[in-house]
Amino acid sequence: MADTPKKDDARIPDPSLSETRFSRLRKKKDMPGGLWLKCESCGAMLYRKELEEKGRVCPTCEFHFTLPGRERVAMTIDEGTWQERFAEVTALDRLGFKDGSTYAEKVEKARARTKQNEALICGTGKIDGREVVLAVLDFSFLGGSMGEVVGEKIALAAEIAIAESKPLVIFTGSGGARMHEGVLSLMQMAKTCAALAELNDAGGFSICVMTHPTTGGVTASFASVCDITLAEPGALIGFAGPRVIATTLKQELPAGFQRAEFLLEKGQVDRIVKRGEMKSVLARLLDYTKGANVAPTPRAKA
Ligand SMILES: [Zn+2]
Repeated sequence: MADTPKKDDARIPDPSLSETRFSRLRKKKDMPGGLWLKCESCGAMLYRKELEEKGRVCPTCEFHFTLPGRERVAMTIDEGTWQERFAEVTALDRLGFKDGSTYAEKVEKARARTKQNEALICGTGKIDGREVVLAVLDFSFLGGSMGEVVGEKIALAAEIAIAESKPLVIFTGSGGARMHEGVLSLMQMAKTCAALAELNDAGGFSICVMTHPTTGGVTASFASVCDITLAEPGALIGFAGPRVIATTLKQELPAGFQRAEFLLEKGQVDRIVKRGEMKSVLARLLDYTKGANVAPTPRAKA
């Protein structure tokens, strides 16, 4: 097997399973009320309530489970300071995409399940007293995929950051571009990068935290172009899946390939931060922006 994990890789989920894991993750989330679940990294049986109380980090192997967007916001933003923005923006089914059920039906189902209109939650609030614009991709909404709405909301988040002179913090967890929107979803890669370039030109500051899993068009666009790139331990981060790469290259992939620790070693990730320490690390990083984000200058229009 090209991508069988090595022994010392025991804490890291088997990358060869990752392609099927996205669908299995969704199925698990569709099953409410299960008291126990199995850690996808070490196989330990975990009491769901206890896992949730521990911020969805496995007490046995410290695997960081995918976190619902609302929990991420609550964990990151000071209580009573969160103001959600653009929650009303919804996707249009421009292509009339059908795959078993229609795209519109899929979106409606995701909306009913997550009680939110789209995969990106965006707003303003404080992190340990520091004002920020926060954008969180929610994997439970159509795999955190990026369509027109996600792209637009990232662009709007960058615009608020410029207009209100606040740093922008983004959390990603995504299967990539939303195939149901075809080329319109791919266009969001350029759009979100352009928005972050404008923030940069205006003297703004941005941090992206890549969480498990961050893949495809999201990795290849806004997730990778922020000033600082953090990652949670063990997060799968890549463009194409490991099995596709191994098959194409006809080569055995190195141990830990496409994991946060591997990418830290290669320089794509600046630092790996455990979930329990994330808020204090973000607060410290935001302190470095003091004075750097006070006088935005509008980008010259062509
Ligand atoms: Zn575990």
